[in-house]
Amino acid sequence: MKTEELNQAFKEIFGQKADATFFSPGRINLIGEHTDYNGGHVFPAAITLGTYGAARRRSDKKLRFYSANFKNAGIIDVELDSLVFNEADAWANYPKGVIKFLKEAGHTIDSGLELYVYGDIPNGSGLSSSASLELLAGIVLEELFELKLERLDLVKIGKQTENDFIGVNSGIMDQFAIGMGADKRAIYLDTNTLEYDLVPLDLSDNVIVIMNTNKRRELADSKYNERRSECEKAVEELSQLMTIKTLGELDEASFDEYAYAIKDGNRLKRARHAVFENKRTLKAKNALVSGNLKRFGRLMNASHVSLEHDYEVTGLELDTLVHAAWQQEGVLGARMTGAGFGGCSIAIVHKDKIKTFKDNVGKTYQEVVGYAPEFYIAEIASGSRVLTRK
Ligand code: ADP
Ligand code: MG
Repeated sequence: MKTEELNQAFKEIFGQKADATFFSPGRINLIGEHTDYNGGHVFPAAITLGTYGAARRRSDKKLRFYSANFKNAGIIDVELDSLVFNEADAWANYPKGVIKFLKEAGHTIDSGLELYVYGDIPNGSGLSSSASLELLAGIVLEELFELKLERLDLVKIGKQTENDFIGVNSGIMDQFAIGMGADKRAIYLDTNTLEYDLVPLDLSDNVIVIMNTNKRRELADSKYNERRSECEKAVEELSQLMTIKTLGELDEASFDEYAYAIKDGNRLKRARHAVFENKRTLKAKNALVSGNLKRFGRLMNASHVSLEHDYEVTGLELDTLVHAAWQQEGVLGARMTGAGFGGCSIAIVHKDKIKTFKDNVGKTYQEVVGYAPEFYIAEIASGSRVLTRK
């Protein structure tokens, strides 16, 4: 969306000119799935699909929110003095949470604002439109109220909003990738220490194709919380034999040696995924850095296998896309991305094979699942940013 269109749309809704315009990306995760809340590594990148915003500061205490993606909701009005979760405020709970936690952190937000939002990330598809919106709200507040903030503060406030306001017990990956993203770089992040590397994402003649199952991630949040507690329980059991706080501290060999502490087959599989996926993420990063794209692709495939059989967070739709992708010519690797249970997969595809890839995978998916998937080419983008200011 162009900034002129954003400004125009803002004016149509709120009747005045916006003070500033903004963009906040979505993200894909190349590898390292369900490792962020297990103290492991992740390897995401911000993408050019994202959430646009235009905003104006008000002199009274009214917060007014409008999303072109939820036109039926109209303008959602909230008082600055009542920042509590309210079902009826629908999507506006995300910016409400961000404002609440910014205030709690000691930042002065003493008047209201108007915010127009439009996103081209399909919602609920695992590309993290929610974190994109949280970070968008964060930079809007930062800009309009001239807050003194480190980017990492906003990342943490986005996560806090997701966890403690919306009620999704997710790790820090999404907000970190979206807040800290860099052009043509993927982020190798240690979720335990928050140390990170921006790794050039040089895929030679290949592109990343995002494949959307078009299945909403129903049940995703409850299943997500279930996996989290399975892993926590496994850590508790392992702690009888060794001193560990997270599964990310183990390597494959020590896990193997101590795994007999885990008393349940499902928990064993969940923990094995967390340990192996974490190590696989390091291997994949090294493969990419040394230009070994074939190995990088195989490690993506291995990640999917582990998510399918050990972590069990894929399902028919994601598996159909990924298994079909593996069969295509010119594909280096493919896996689900995001939390799973629907949402999106990614594949690394040679640029001359994109059309046949889409045709063939699309046809198989239609036959097996009964409706069409969608495809987008992922362009890697920089993190949340101000587009224009007064
Ligand atoms: P995901 O983060 O995978 O896209 P979630 O269910 O976590 O899925 O977040 C989707 C929710 O985030 C939407 O239902 C809506 O409440 C909010 N949201 C995301 N993008 C927008 C937008 N452009 N406008 C309004 N709300 C949005
Ligand atoms: Mg989300």
